[in-house]
Amino acid sequence: MELKICHLYPDLLNLYGDWGNIVVLAQRCMRRGIAVSLQGAPLGEQVNLAEYDLLFIGGGQDRELEALLDEVKSWRGAEIKAAIADGKTMLAICGGYQLLGHSYKTADGKEMDLVGALDFTSVGAKERLVGDYMFQWDELSAPVQIVGFENHSARTYLGSGVRPFGTVLRGHGNNGEDGTEGVRYRNVFGTYAHGPVLPKNPVLADHLIRLGLEQRYGSVTLEPLDDTLELRANQFLVERLSQK
Ligand code: GLN
Repeated sequence: MELKICHLYPDLLNLYGDWGNIVVLAQRCMRRGIAVSLQGAPLGEQVNLAEYDLLFIGGGQDRELEALLDEVKSWRGAEIKAAIADGKTMLAICGGYQLLGHSYKTADGKEMDLVGALDFTSVGAKERLVGDYMFQWDELSAPVQIVGFENHSARTYLGSGVRPFGTVLRGHGNNGEDGTEGVRYRNVFGTYAHGPVLPKNPVLADHLIRLGLEQRYGSVTLEPLDDTLELRANQFLVERLSQK
């Protein structure tokens, strides 16, 4: 069994160590004897996304999002849209998350037309939404408290065609107003959680691995790993944030 991962824009969208999420996915596969292959898809490099089981996009500054607009508009956007429609598993962080929506108007008024694969828009503001935060993810049999670090100017407003990834417990999330964090649509997970998010949230990491593998292998059961350290790191932040 093999998990094939494609890292979109590793050259431009990789803020706050987001590529660490790929290290976690790879490690959690290899510790189970699952092979992993990794392919970068930097600016200008055509990669057939259909060949991959899991797509990852990290975060980036406004200027880095601007740098890939022409390519997104001319061909990459359509490829990402097709991969999402095809049910590809995707984790998109902050700027990479924003990229999947209709548009993003930056704090200094620049309008960006984006992939438009998911029904949401983002609007920048002078005051950034920054800090450790946590949200509740209610998709599995038991609620999961996801912890992470957010730093974004944009306020993201979800449309009717998508649902939130989770409900903010502490911090800001999508916009600091409606209590939503991130987005869920088919097998796409968009979130503002940097950190990187997966080391301290092993349940999410395994869910993404399972979804990615199941597209190719059908039903997959992952053997449990010893997550003592990971869960201790998660609990440390949960307790610290719960005191606020
Ligand atoms: N530049 C975007 C914003 O400020 C995304 C930032 C990020 O990826 N951390 O909202």
